[in-house]
Amino acid sequence: GTPTALMVGSGMGAERGILIRNGEAIQTFKDVKAIAFDKTGTITKGKPEVTDIVLVKGVQEKDFLYYAATIEIGSEHPLAHAIVEKAKNDKIKLGEVIDFNAIVGMGVVGNIDGERILVGNRKLMKDNEIPYEDYEEELIRLEEEAKTAMLLAKGNQFLGIVAVADPIKEDSARAIAELESMGIKTAMITGDNRRTAAAIGKKVGISHVISEVMPDGKVEEVKKLQEQYGVVAMVGDGINDAPALKQSNVGIAIGTGTDIAIEAADVTLVRGELSGIVSVIKLSKAIFRKIK
Ligand code: ADP
Ligand code: MG
Repeated sequence: GTPTALMVGSGMGAERGILIRNGEAIQTFKDVKAIAFDKTGTITKGKPEVTDIVLVKGVQEKDFLYYAATIEIGSEHPLAHAIVEKAKNDKIKLGEVIDFNAIVGMGVVGNIDGERILVGNRKLMKDNEIPYEDYEEELIRLEEEAKTAMLLAKGNQFLGIVAVADPIKEDSARAIAELESMGIKTAMITGDNRRTAAAIGKKVGISHVISEVMPDGKVEEVKKLQEQYGVVAMVGDGINDAPALKQSNVGIAIGTGTDIAIEAADVTLVRGELSGIVSVIKLSKAIFRKIK
């Protein structure tokens, strides 16, 4: 009967690096019609590295990195780690920040050596009336290369752009292609900007790209997919993904992700490989075909 199937399913899942916290999840997988993926840390490795620094005339790279990295020490975002790492590699001595604030979905602000420093996206610059518009073409070029571009301002002055690239996991494209060939729709939900998201979506062959979503907006996006497709799985690794994992019919966490995401999910992909999702759906279909 079903309990035996669930036990067998759990054992077979574990062999494939899939930990099942909620036994019913194994039953739900066979009915999944669409899967929503977080981007950073889920489709990509979540280990971005600085690739480009574009400076306004007269600005020194070491000064730019001093401000950027000093403020990002206070942030837990993977983008922040990339900037801090770059400064460390370049042996830049960092300073101290006071009045630090992380603004979700936008960036960070704080005071360094008596100067107000901002690092974040266009929206952060617009909200603070920082003129960066002359660099719009440069931003677009970086984003079309699938990079995330962050802008830095000191006081009311725009100083430049730091761009990072986050490598795509080796098996993401193959797993997404297999899911699509099984008739399952794939979607990516990210806070990143439209162009970067589209460039990554294209590389991995995802069918819907939903970008510039504020952290608390992921739940709404999952609800919309449920209205459109019915049974929806969500895959994520971040703190921000937890509510969307709960909202979905079956939540899948990345084993290398945050504990909060793992606790919110029904299953965990221990090694973080998206091909585990293909395995568990096939497993679910096989088990429940046999016991009918
Ligand atoms: P995601 O997890 O999909 O990258 P977030 O909502 O965390 O989405 O971030 C959205 C955007 O806000 C980022 O792409 C970046 O432009 C900006 N941002 C967020 N945190 C930071 C940070 N610590 N430093 C600079 N920019 C940031
Ligand atoms: Mg993530």
